[in-house]
Amino acid sequence: MDDDVKASMHKHRHTTLERLEKYISENHFQDVNLRGKLYPFSKEIDRLYHWSMPDGQGAWEQWSFRQVITQDFRPANIGESFGPLWSTHWFRIEVTIPDSWKGQQVWLRWNSQAEAMLWSMNGEPLQGLSPSGPHQRMKRDITNGFNSDNDEDTKMETNNHNNICTENGLPNQMRTDYPISRCWNGSQETLVYYIEMACNNMFGSGKDGMINPPDTERTFRLEMAEVCTMDADVYKLIMDLEVLHDMAKWLPKDDPRSYEALYAGNQIINTILKSDYRLASKIANTFFSKGNGARAHTLALIGNCHIDSAWLWPYSEAKRKCARSWISTLNLMEEYPEMRFACSQAQQFSWMKTHYPAVFEKIRAQVAAGRFIPTGGTWVEMDGLIPSGESFIRQFLYGQLFYQREFGVQCKDFWLPDTFGYCAQFPQICKQFGITRFLTQKLSWNMINKFPHNNFIWEGLDGTTILAHFPPGNSYEMNVKVEEAMRTVKNLQDKGRVSTSAFLYGYGNGGGGPTKEMLERARRLKDVDGCPRMEHMSPNSFFKRLESEKQNLCRWVGELFLELHNGTYTSQANTKRQNRECEFALRDAELMLALAAVGGELNEGKLHAYQDALVGAWKKVLLNQFHDVIPGSSIGLVYREADQMFQEALALATQIKESCSALILQDKAEARQGESVIVNTFPWKVQQVVSVNEDNLEPTRKRVRMEGEVTQATRTGGHYFAVEAQGIGWTKLSPMCPAPVSVRVSNGVYVLENSLIRAEIGKYGQVLSLTSASDPARDVFKKRDGHQGHGNQMMMYDDIPLYWDAWDTMDYHLETAKVLNDEHSGCVMTEMKVIESGPLIVKLQWEMRISKVSSITQEIELSAVSPYLTFSNHVNWHENRKFLKVAFNTGLLTRNATFDTQFGYIERPTHTNTSWDSARFEVCGHKWADLSEHDFGVSVLNDSKYGWTARGSTLTLSLLRSPKAPDEYCDMGSHTFRYALMPHKGSLQSAGVQRRAYEFNNSLMVSSTTLSEDKDTWYSLVGDGAMIEAVKLAEDKTGDVVVRVYEMEGGSPKVWLKVPSTPRPRSAYLCSGLEGPYKELSFSVEEASKHLFIALSLSPFKIVNVRISYG
Ligand SMILES: [Zn+2]
Repeated sequence: MDDDVKASMHKHRHTTLERLEKYISENHFQDVNLRGKLYPFSKEIDRLYHWSMPDGQGAWEQWSFRQVITQDFRPANIGESFGPLWSTHWFRIEVTIPDSWKGQQVWLRWNSQAEAMLWSMNGEPLQGLSPSGPHQRMKRDITNGFNSDNDEDTKMETNNHNNICTENGLPNQMRTDYPISRCWNGSQETLVYYIEMACNNMFGSGKDGMINPPDTERTFRLEMAEVCTMDADVYKLIMDLEVLHDMAKWLPKDDPRSYEALYAGNQIINTILKSDYRLASKIANTFFSKGNGARAHTLALIGNCHIDSAWLWPYSEAKRKCARSWISTLNLMEEYPEMRFACSQAQQFSWMKTHYPAVFEKIRAQVAAGRFIPTGGTWVEMDGLIPSGESFIRQFLYGQLFYQREFGVQCKDFWLPDTFGYCAQFPQICKQFGITRFLTQKLSWNMINKFPHNNFIWEGLDGTTILAHFPPGNSYEMNVKVEEAMRTVKNLQDKGRVSTSAFLYGYGNGGGGPTKEMLERARRLKDVDGCPRMEHMSPNSFFKRLESEKQNLCRWVGELFLELHNGTYTSQANTKRQNRECEFALRDAELMLALAAVGGELNEGKLHAYQDALVGAWKKVLLNQFHDVIPGSSIGLVYREADQMFQEALALATQIKESCSALILQDKAEARQGESVIVNTFPWKVQQVVSVNEDNLEPTRKRVRMEGEVTQATRTGGHYFAVEAQGIGWTKLSPMCPAPVSVRVSNGVYVLENSLIRAEIGKYGQVLSLTSASDPARDVFKKRDGHQGHGNQMMMYDDIPLYWDAWDTMDYHLETAKVLNDEHSGCVMTEMKVIESGPLIVKLQWEMRISKVSSITQEIELSAVSPYLTFSNHVNWHENRKFLKVAFNTGLLTRNATFDTQFGYIERPTHTNTSWDSARFEVCGHKWADLSEHDFGVSVLNDSKYGWTARGSTLTLSLLRSPKAPDEYCDMGSHTFRYALMPHKGSLQSAGVQRRAYEFNNSLMVSSTTLSEDKDTWYSLVGDGAMIEAVKLAEDKTGDVVVRVYEMEGGSPKVWLKVPSTPRPRSAYLCSGLEGPYKELSFSVEEASKHLFIALSLSPFKIVNVRISYG
């Protein structure tokens, strides 16, 4: 009858929309709607047995499936609760399928409010299961809710949409089911499965469902354990109706296509109610077959599952999240051949290889098929700001090597959707590893300024460019909903320049990645008039398409600064300190190992064992650089694991450094008594005061006496010596006789002076005056109006953010500044004491109670040869949402401050002219920052800090925060850190600020030698402006040495790499980051020293890798 397919009356848009919605709702009218018909028959499983794994968090790693299933399983019931948080529970389920279900689709359904893995009775992981429920969904909204657009309307729209999704009863697509059979064979055998329940869920288990410290008391209730039949026709129609509803709702109201969708949906309901499923389905098919015109924008559908390697859960749980998510993804791949899945952290693949070899083999097959796609090229998705340049190199090196070795592929795309800022050297580092494209999303979270592009050419610090893309949908967890597709095109800021945008879909963090529903929607929306076109693509295919349009794109130069999460430069201070220590310790250890190897000091077995051990140590450090660990945004449990790993890495690096240097410095031919020796691992001459213990002093003492003993006893019974050491190399201890450093006290002012600088310090530690001996009339702290500013002002701020405690410090915290070490602060201070008084070291000490619960002890030190004042701090810290900083309120007039960064430095404004300038109120810098006028300036160096503020003439270093979530004990307890203040004449480059900052972080090493020579140099540089960042054995274990040099002063200097001639190298090549040689270099020989020289061509901030072969 024709009447059946006509609208029978005037249609009201809103009521019709809601009719569609209610007809497929999970929450309303299920007894009569279509959703209620999805599972026509069900029964609870017949028998349920339970065994609780002892020992809680991480215990699962010690158990094999075979061991587990032989444990004492006891009967259990649906409705029981299991816990506590982080514990593991195993279930054995037994069920027989009713005879009458023959020929039907049969599914298993399980909801235990916790993440779970379904296993076959043979120990094969079958499917990840994640809990469903509105509660779960609410938490998702917390993390995804910050839209980005700085457009209030859009923000509201997005948030509302997320809520409506739950409220209106559209299905909540967590994963609670598993297809036992698509067509049940009628067998009466008892089916047996095992389920491993991990007592946590997608966002760990924060108190009140928020990003809070975990609720360790929490238990998880087994709500559902059943088998059921599933009606495939009903499923199809539900999906059809959902997409029609969404098109009707989200297409522009003045688009006739919106009404076509509405009427088609309405008509389908009427048809279903007449039980004509076939016709209903046909109406939908007809609607979806009406394609787009050629002008439609294309969305590149890239499946993904963003799994934080640790965050609101420990590392051990992330491993299981990967397994659960990826087995589910692999299952979907069988059903949906069009699907492409991008996966980005080599570490996570490596976990699979170790803990889930069967899953890893399936992955390997899909990698070969080009469908499970390793991407990103890095070991983990690391923090983009805090790791050193060499750490970033290692992230790519060990990532790419893993992919090459395991899968025979190399990533071409850098994939870092979720990090809190992006260093300006990423383009150059990427290109060193064959990566020319970059994808991220987080910059859309900017608080103040909207980043102006989604697609652009990103030019880094050295001028290298890569192609960058930010998915305009502002999420890497899309559900393939019509609204998201429309939003993606609406948000695209490069309209008319590009025709394709990435669309990243799949639940992250234990949600299990893409779902069947997402893929069903994608099939319907592939090419439908009114919606953007959808095409499944690999990242590579997407970027290829973008590359064909890159001539249309704009260019962005320098760092990508995220205007949010600036507290992460400071939170979890000890983790950051350990990371810095490990970076330096690993550098020295690799250098010593390379020297020992080239010198033939180690047999092959030992050599390779050491080399592997150092790679293992690096990987621990790299893992802790994950984008929620080193920034300080994880739960406390993670930091206990990270601490342990850092300690292991540090101990190993120290041990290898010491045993290799002992081998190198030992005379095997002749037995001599050991003499003190100074080892300098920097490629320049270093002057420092070192302390030497009595016990290895005897032969040294004789030399010293002969030359006129210039020593000072240390407080621990040793001796200070001022020494000068050539780099990179060693020099027997041969004290210099510098002009003494002195301390005088007059009127409560302490005057510290050596031949380089002079400082006046008040009784509570404030620096009242600071001059450089080469320009004694210029006082760093003298203001233009004649007033005197002060340095080393200990500052306290209220630090209560708007959103995420550990992540954010807001600009208004600057308005709450309070100077602590001031007469009128109310803090209890002990007056300054002179504890060492020269001639080599002068040291003052003072103490302050910051509050009832916190205190600082500070030592202020100047050595006879140091161009900077050192401040060593011991802080006992128990504050709540307070921020401790140290300020240097100088008299300098400068519009830019300069900050140390990976392989170079960057400048940022000291003013707040524009909203972009003002948003950079707290910025990231590494070992130093500097304020300079044309020929004079001051630098602040540090050994473990990353947060800075430069406003006007004041430079402030961030020291400690005290956020309470997600780690309620974040930074509570004792801290040790140092910073230094260095006035300089000339530029920071001519004053050697960068070199001093390296030295400040890694003092000369005092060791012992039996060699007869007085000194020697190893790999070194001739010429200024460059640094040897690494000397390491090549990863391919050929015994070749890779020397990584970079230009650090922003110039194009002439530099020669000096190489020892014994043993004589066979050849030298320029090589890539992956250490593959590409251009031969020639040696020149210096007749006198027999050293070899390799000329290097450098330009500002360029990284050059030289591979030297000895074989
Ligand atoms: Zn993340």
